[in-house]
Amino acid sequence: MFSWPNNYDSCFTISGEITREGIGLHSGEKTKVRLKTFDQEGYFVSFSNKPDQIYKLDQSLIGSTMLCTAVKLGERNLYTIEHLLSSLAGCGMSYIHIEVDGKEIPLLDGSAIQWVNAFEEVGIKRVPKPSNFMREINESKVFNQDNSVIALTPSKKLTIISTIDFQYEAIGKQTFIIDLTPKCFVEMIAPARTFGFKDQFQELSELGLIKGGSLENALVCDGDKWVNPPLRFANEPVRHKILDLIGDLALVGLPKAQIIVYKGSHSLNALLASSLKI
Ligand SMILES: [Zn+2]
Repeated sequence: MFSWPNNYDSCFTISGEITREGIGLHSGEKTKVRLKTFDQEGYFVSFSNKPDQIYKLDQSLIGSTMLCTAVKLGERNLYTIEHLLSSLAGCGMSYIHIEVDGKEIPLLDGSAIQWVNAFEEVGIKRVPKPSNFMREINESKVFNQDNSVIALTPSKKLTIISTIDFQYEAIGKQTFIIDLTPKCFVEMIAPARTFGFKDQFQELSELGLIKGGSLENALVCDGDKWVNPPLRFANEPVRHKILDLIGDLALVGLPKAQIIVYKGSHSLNALLASSLKI
C-alpha cells in the first residue's frame, strides 16, 4: 500500500511515464497528456507536434483565469492546468515534463485524484528540493475583489482556511481548515470534484464555453439539491476551492504560511500568487 509523507521535508518526481487522456472542459475535444520526469526543477510543457520546444511554466505565463487557469506558451494557450498542477504541488512533486497532445489538460473526473493515483501506479522518487519548495514568507499580504478576500501570514507550516458562501441551499456556507501535507492533500483534498450550477450551465453552453462539461466531470448544483449525487464529502465544494488554490500557487511554490480565503476564485488566487513570485 502506497503511503504519502506527513510533511513536506522531501520533494519527489515520478519514477515512470504516465499517460492519461480524456475530454477537455472548454473545447469538448479529446486531449492526451504524457508526464515524464525532467532533469530540471519545476514544471515543463511541450506539445506533441513540436517536441523540441519546451516551456518552463512560470507565473508570468498565466493568461486567462475565467472559469479555469490557462498559460500562454508562445502563440498557443494551454487551458485547465490547475487540477494537474494542484496534484503535483499538493503531493510535493517537481522535475516534471508535461507533454500535451491538444490544447487542454483533460478534466478526468473533475478532481485531482486520478493524477495522484497515476503517481502511485508508477511510483515516486526523491529529488533535490527546488528553490521555491515550501518557501519561507516574511511579510503578510491581503488582497480583495469586492467582498472576496485572500490573506496570508507567515507560519512554520502551510495552513489553509477557506470559506465559501453560495445562495444555493445545497452549498450554502462551508468552511474547511487543513494543515497541508502530501498525505492530507491526497486523502482530504485531491478527491474533491469541481462544481457548477444548472442554471449557469445552459448560459455558458450557449456562449460556446464548457463544451466538455458533463455529469461525469463536475458536480452540478440545482438550487437545494445536487443533480448527480452522491458527494464524496458533505463539504466537497469548499475542499475543491482549496484544491484550486493549491494549483494556482504551484508555479510560485507553496509557502510556509497561514492562508485565509473567503469566497476564493482563480483570479483572487492569481493576485496572491503574483505577489509571491520570486
Ligand atoms: Zn477546479
